[in-house]
Amino acid sequence: MRAIQYAAPTSLSDAVALLSQSGARARILAGGTDLIVQMREHLREVDLVVDAKRIPELTAVSCDPQQGLTLGAAVPCYQVYGSADIARLYPGLVDAASLIGGTAIQGRASVGGNLCNSGPAGDSIPALIALGATARILGPGGERTVPVEQFCTAPGKNVLQPDELLVSLHLPAPQPRSGARYLRFIPRNEMDIAEVGVGAGVELSADGSRFVSVRVALGAVGPTPILAAEAGAALAGQAVSDETIRAAAAAAQAAARPISDMRGTAEHRRHLVGVLTRRALAGAVDRARA
Ligand SMILES: Cc1cc2nc3c(=O)[nH]c(=O)nc-3n(C[C@H](O)[C@H](O)[C@H](O)COP(=O)(O)OP(=O)(O)OC[C@H]3O[C@@H](n4cnc5c(N)ncnc54)[C@H](O)[C@@H]3O)c2cc1C
Repeated sequence: MRAIQYAAPTSLSDAVALLSQSGARARILAGGTDLIVQMREHLREVDLVVDAKRIPELTAVSCDPQQGLTLGAAVPCYQVYGSADIARLYPGLVDAASLIGGTAIQGRASVGGNLCNSGPAGDSIPALIALGATARILGPGGERTVPVEQFCTAPGKNVLQPDELLVSLHLPAPQPRSGARYLRFIPRNEMDIAEVGVGAGVELSADGSRFVSVRVALGAVGPTPILAAEAGAALAGQAVSDETIRAAAAAAQAAARPISDMRGTAEHRRHLVGVLTRRALAGAVDRARA
């Protein structure tokens, strides 16, 4: 047993001051579904826990068809899929938020915490990348914005300095004729994390027959979630067809860097990238046309 300090600041400036004073052994607590487990298992030694949930900017949600979605970093998953506006405008994010853990976990776990935990299999991360999300970061030196595809740097590591915190995620306003889908494969029916996860976001031409732009993001097939830019480039300007989607899936497979572990072999993961990319793209196209 070891004493741990707990603070619940009510402003961003107080939170940053606490992080600055305490260095790398201070951690932000959002839902705690990763942090508390890691502390109990001594995977992370923490002296100070800084609770995010009394800071208004971290718990705020603003969803507007013109301005896009700003999601406070500590907003739990149930508020994501419980919002009619988010469900209507960002069903691809809802796909991920409603897969994380189960109902009890979703009552606490935040999308921001999923990103900051920076696990290669974090379900929300490919969905955020597919939707073009950016991360608003605050530290003693001020604010900066980082595209989500550049946020994670290694398993469990990211661009945050010890005295910085994630304030919010911003998703751009959905374009007309756009849609997104996130799908994952888990190796057993019980609660588990992804063997592979794929997020796809598409924007179609006015008649819905061609791809204007496409983003494909892969989870659990590399040390960090991957933006498979080659897969998106393979589709831009192309007709929507099984053939073009198959070519993009092959490009996604080439971008994957899978390893073998207890959830599956590298070979099986690469196969799944192809299958899930095709299905996620088809689902995103259906949503864009709906
Ligand atoms: C039973 C169970 C099932 C799970 N199933 C899944 C699953 O299916 N898919 C999946 O992806 N994950 C799963 N998880 C992992 C976990 O629930 C998610 O990663 C969750 O989204 C983390 O959010 P949180 O709010 O609980 O984060 P916390 O545990 O509070 O924080 C996670 C990490 O991020 C840091 N952090 C949090 N917020 C900030 C911030 N604003 N600024 C800086 N750092 C911050 C914390 O210090 C900590 O290091 C599961 C966990 C459990 C216990």
